[in-house]
Amino acid sequence: METVLFLTSVEPDGTLAKPALETLNAALSLAAGLDNAPLIVGLVGDAAQSAANTIATCGAATFLAVTGGDFTSSRYATDAAAAEALAKAAHATVIIAPATSRWSRVMAGVACRLGGRIDTHATAITVTSGVPLITRWYYRQRMVATQHRAQRPWVITLDPGCAEPWNGSAGIAQLESVTVNLPATAKRTTVVGLQSPAADVQTIRPDAKLLFVAGAGWTKKQADGQIHAEEAPKLILDFLKNSQASLGGTKSVVDLSGEGEAVLPFMTHLNQVGQTGSTPRHAKGLATCCHGEEPHVVGWRFVNERRVINTDPNCSWTRGKADVVYVADAFAVMRKLNERVTKK
Ligand SMILES: Cc1cc2nc3c(=O)[nH]c(=O)nc-3n(C[C@H](O)[C@H](O)[C@H](O)COP(=O)(O)OP(=O)(O)OC[C@H]3O[C@@H](n4cnc5c(N)ncnc54)[C@H](O)[C@@H]3O)c2cc1C
Repeated sequence: METVLFLTSVEPDGTLAKPALETLNAALSLAAGLDNAPLIVGLVGDAAQSAANTIATCGAATFLAVTGGDFTSSRYATDAAAAEALAKAAHATVIIAPATSRWSRVMAGVACRLGGRIDTHATAITVTSGVPLITRWYYRQRMVATQHRAQRPWVITLDPGCAEPWNGSAGIAQLESVTVNLPATAKRTTVVGLQSPAADVQTIRPDAKLLFVAGAGWTKKQADGQIHAEEAPKLILDFLKNSQASLGGTKSVVDLSGEGEAVLPFMTHLNQVGQTGSTPRHAKGLATCCHGEEPHVVGWRFVNERRVINTDPNCSWTRGKADVVYVADAFAVMRKLNERVTKK
């Protein structure tokens, strides 16, 4: 019989982040599908008791935790040791963790330490005829595969945004503490603090309903023969501020910023959507001044409703890649749109 371990870290305020709650839901469905296999919760972080209480009624058989100041911050050596100890204490055959940067970094190493195998970036976990299956995309989201593994333990990391977050009542969880014997080298890396951009400078918002993509057209000479280097960033940032949309860019536009031609200085390679960029999951997308070439549009795989503003009626979006194409000047449209959104 399988034993499923849901493994995650705890936020410093004693909550579980959305990707963790999504992974918990997927792990619960998996356990239910495997003839109600035992589901064990494994938490890492000092505030584990509060976090366990928030999911006390989820139906887990056991709540395990590795606590202590050493395990609050993300650090390879301590995270890997904690995950290994939890997996062993749980006698887990299937271990599911959210594919956040923290867990993506360590889980392959943990699988190796456990003598298991790992599959990363799963987008769904199901059961058919008693066999657990994962769904995973390949070749930059062009092909989808459903796969299973005989090897145990099987470590799976689930991409954020692929399952509904668990949503149930809190209670009091009986937390069992798991001791980790850290090697002397584990604390060679010391976490001295976190640096992150201020909230209004942060343009990547995975939870936003709308993806706003800016292409290289924003940086090019317009009908008047001029580059609108001051207006372009203002129009885009005003729209992002008012709509709270997430900002994506094309390879051309992020490369321009990287080369110091910073017409859109806030655009970085992290914003790039496409074959060599990201594949975000937003309900809607609006592409502006972007031609819509295949290496870019492949990153729109999971964006359901696609709209485009381009002056060129023959841009690549019009070849079946968008739901609506507005043949218009994006500067003019965004000026009007910002006026309306600000009024609202
Ligand atoms: C191996 C490989 C991998 C790649 N990976 C990626 C990737 O991950 N992501 C990616 O984006 N690209 C990728 N590319 C590059 C991709 O093929 C395109 O070159 C790139 O997406 C083009 O960017 P763009 O549409 O912003 O620029 P352009 O092709 O220069 O298009 C600019 C568009 O702006 C329009 N425009 C100009 N002014 C206005 C205006 N005022 N109003 C409205 N529209 C206007 C123009 O009509 C034009 O269509 C890759 C290419 C290769 C070879």
